[in-house]
Amino acid sequence: MTCLVPLGTLISVNGDSETEIRSDVTVVGGGPSGAATAYWLAMRGFDVTVVEKKIFPRDKTCGDGLTPRAVVQLEAMGMADFLTTQHRYVGLRAVAFGRSFEIPWPKHPEFPEYGYVSRRSLLDQAVLDRAREAGARVLMHHEALSAETGAGGLAAVLAKNLDTGEVCRLVSKFYVLAEGSNARVSRSLGAVRNPGKPLGLAIRAYHPTTRASEEWIESHLELRDDSGAIIPGYGWIFPAGNGAANVGFGLLSNRSRWRKLNTTRELQRFIDATDGSWTFGDAEFPATGGKLPMGLAISPIAGPNHIMVGDAAASINPFNGEGISYAYETGRLAAGILTQALATGDASMIKAYPEQLRARFGLYYAVGNAFVRLISEPKLMSAGVWSAMRSPALLAPVVTVMANLLPGSSAAQVERIYRLANAARERFSSAG
Ligand SMILES: Cc1cc2nc3c(=O)[nH]c(=O)nc-3n(C[C@H](O)[C@H](O)[C@H](O)COP(=O)(O)OP(=O)(O)OC[C@H]3O[C@@H](n4cnc5c(N)ncnc54)[C@H](O)[C@@H]3O)c2cc1C
Repeated sequence: MTCLVPLGTLISVNGDSETEIRSDVTVVGGGPSGAATAYWLAMRGFDVTVVEKKIFPRDKTCGDGLTPRAVVQLEAMGMADFLTTQHRYVGLRAVAFGRSFEIPWPKHPEFPEYGYVSRRSLLDQAVLDRAREAGARVLMHHEALSAETGAGGLAAVLAKNLDTGEVCRLVSKFYVLAEGSNARVSRSLGAVRNPGKPLGLAIRAYHPTTRASEEWIESHLELRDDSGAIIPGYGWIFPAGNGAANVGFGLLSNRSRWRKLNTTRELQRFIDATDGSWTFGDAEFPATGGKLPMGLAISPIAGPNHIMVGDAAASINPFNGEGISYAYETGRLAAGILTQALATGDASMIKAYPEQLRARFGLYYAVGNAFVRLISEPKLMSAGVWSAMRSPALLAPVVTVMANLLPGSSAAQVERIYRLANAARERFSSAG
């Protein structure tokens, strides 16, 4: 029995019938972050092996919403043609307090004024195929079970071929952990989530609707629990084309009060409340949910020769739960740093990864984390949404900030928002 390895790979089988696969970089996980890392490394001629425990196409619990940020990343990976086959939309319709406003994506020097809704079964396969076309070796249905460590860091990742049961030893100069939110190997290497930072919980299902071709994704910002308190989160209806919409509910669970909410029940309540205008048919399959690790809450995210990317590094935007673009972006950043480390033979260059990640997203995510602390307080969430829904002139910049679509020179604005958010929180805490 052997691992399914394409020709040309250096393999040695030891006495225990364990196959060894050598490459420059081993990537654990073939979702957005792993596939992007593999694509950018393979494009530069490096030998990359991706292990993915599922068989693609596979469903991945997600809202399937791609913002203009994600579009830029996908186009950079040569996915423009694929995107034209997906459902394009032009902005966000915000609904709360009996009002509804359509906010188009802003004009921006770098990002387009449109996004897509793309089922992850299709999207993830297409990006992983792109990495394969660039030269990456992909071992599907192989689950990384553990990592061996040595003097210089990781010495190997052991992955089981889920068809044959055989264990492969993946040996490389560098390792990228792109396992998503249930990051077993990352955790075994000491990566822990800071419980003081936000964690999202979300659930979604696909429902047939006659409005599946609409050009606006919809967010409902005034969802209430049994006591009538506004929930820190939102319900979404993302028209997905082809007769269906992705309908979901997500909340910030950093307070025990919200952790106790039954998300399946809340989703149903949301569907019942919106059914009148969307006329949903029965769900294609039962709703599924998952965790959203946000705000760079995990550390350490790099070791002597390994790097964590995407959800494994908690790279989801705390403002809106968007994770796909950041998975691509962290994968691309990691690939850039590994390119330098491989080219120079200087593994210590990996230390630049957490620094570069902080330089790029640190301030914005700090603001996002402060924002989450604010809106976890129902009165503040309610006051904030109520005020925003009074004035589209206020709502549009809020949406721009939340989707991280401010022009590049806006660090000073973000800093100002950060100070204001903190001041508001302190004032509220001392008043309460
Ligand atoms: C309900 C919900 C709705 C969401 N909606 C949106 C949205 O609309 N837009 C958005 O941008 N983001 C959304 N997100 C977040 C988004 O799904 C994630 O941020 C994104 O998938 C992260 O990509 P990733 O590559 O880091 O991880 P994943 O997409 O989770 O990919 C990890 C891959 O690694 C594989 N894997 C895991 N462990 C192993 C192992 N040991 N060995 C081998 N393979 C392994 C998995 O099978 C998987 O394919 C949502 C999340 C949830 C839960």
